[in-house]
Amino acid sequence: MEKHIKLVEKAHCTGCRACSNVCPTYSVKFELKGLHFYPTIDENTCIKCGKCMSVCSPLQWESKHPSGIGPKSKYYCAWNTDAAERHAATSGGIGGAMAELALKNRWYVCGAVFDKDWRLSHIVSKDKSISEQIRGSKYLQSNTDGVYARIKELLMHGEKVLFIGTPCQTDALNNCISARLRDNLLLCEIICHGVNSPKVWEDYKHHLEISHKSSVAVYNFRSKSHGWGKLRVAYTLANGKKVDVPAYQNIFHYWFGQHLMLRESCFRCQYRTVNRYSDIIIGDFWGIENIEPSLDVRGGVSVVITNSPAGESFFADCHTTKKKIEASSALKVIKGFVDKTTEERTVMEIDRMHKFEADYITHSFDVMYKELYPLITPTQKLLNSVLYHLHLKK
Ligand SMILES: Cc1cc2nc3c(=O)[nH]c(=O)nc-3n(C[C@H](O)[C@H](O)[C@H](O)COP(=O)(O)OP(=O)(O)OC[C@H]3O[C@@H](n4cnc5c(N)ncnc54)[C@H](O)[C@@H]3O)c2cc1C
Ligand code: SF4
Ligand code: SF4
Ligand code: SF4
Repeated sequence: MEKHIKLVEKAHCTGCRACSNVCPTYSVKFELKGLHFYPTIDENTCIKCGKCMSVCSPLQWESKHPSGIGPKSKYYCAWNTDAAERHAATSGGIGGAMAELALKNRWYVCGAVFDKDWRLSHIVSKDKSISEQIRGSKYLQSNTDGVYARIKELLMHGEKVLFIGTPCQTDALNNCISARLRDNLLLCEIICHGVNSPKVWEDYKHHLEISHKSSVAVYNFRSKSHGWGKLRVAYTLANGKKVDVPAYQNIFHYWFGQHLMLRESCFRCQYRTVNRYSDIIIGDFWGIENIEPSLDVRGGVSVVITNSPAGESFFADCHTTKKKIEASSALKVIKGFVDKTTEERTVMEIDRMHKFEADYITHSFDVMYKELYPLITPTQKLLNSVLYHLHLKK
């Protein structure tokens, strides 16, 4: 009997692109629907093999067995021993220390890189420049088309690969390769609370270029110019002009903080628990100053959780300063920035995101920014929150 092929519904699709990576006839194509990319199957070329469904994690939640955080996991606070590397990275610069070690061992490294048009995708490379290219968090979804297939090919030729990405991407890659190839692959996932729309990013970048009459040369989503704990954004234009402001004064980062342009799957993400599938987890160690008051945290501190012997031994060799800490302290941060855990709050946030998306499709970026969703200061935000709780504001 012919298989019935149906990908997971839009609300649960993480955009991991495992489906397109395994399709033997290239029938899975990603298209912009609203503010995010979603897959569609070309019925004319699909041979109904079912591979796309078999690697889709959201279709298998019931039967999946996480190999992640467990009794054998180890917990650290850590940072890159090279001060310049630490400063240039988003938290403690652990991603860079891992890439350096992998390259030294002649492995391939795969991470998120902007191209010349500021489009974000994962690339695989052995070139020394890759560790600098992947450095830093880019708060939008990275395209992984063809990447897992390329890594599979490398592993089959006996190469070793370090992959760094969001938890849904590391899980997707794991699904795309057979268990026998897993020994040559080291999976590192970042703690993640969600990815923003690549479409809004593109419009925002265009808006910057028009308003500054110059192209964007360098962009830092989390500048440490005032220390790691201060959320600031900094960019340099091709004409030499530099901008460095608190995140709440920048429209892209303000909408990001409001969760208005996150992908829908991120609001109920299945990975914000101990259900992990990678060897190493890295993230910002928020609150470390309360656990280790003697540390100078201004340069950035990462939380690191190793979940496998391979992850533990690789991390032991990385050029980092590290200290073991209690599991309970590390586990407090794995949910990411999302602190509103009630179902009521989640439903409200999803509704707001849908409204923003509908408005965005109807109006231009400028109308959204100037009229419908303008910047508000933290004081106004606090006032709105009080009014909301007093049921005086929707
Ligand atoms: C979308 C997103 C959401 C995040 N949310 C949280 C959070 O809620 N809480 C928290 O503690 N930490 C979060 N982080 C992780 C954090 O910002 C740091 O990236 C992480 O601590 C690693 O920092 P680092 O200094 O060790 O390395 P860095 O040099 O900053 O390395 C970052 C690594 O992340 C990868 N990366 C960057 N952007 C992306 C992307 N868009 N998609 C996939 N991979 C990417 C790169 O390949 C690189 O290897 C988030 C990161 C991203 C990208
Ligand atoms: S494999 Fe990933 S991208 Fe494809 S349908 Fe499933 S969740 Fe969406
Ligand atoms: S069923 Fe097979 S051929 Fe059809 S889209 Fe899925 S993977 Fe591709
Ligand atoms: S929040 Fe979850 S679904 Fe969204 S990008 Fe991060 S890991 Fe993927």
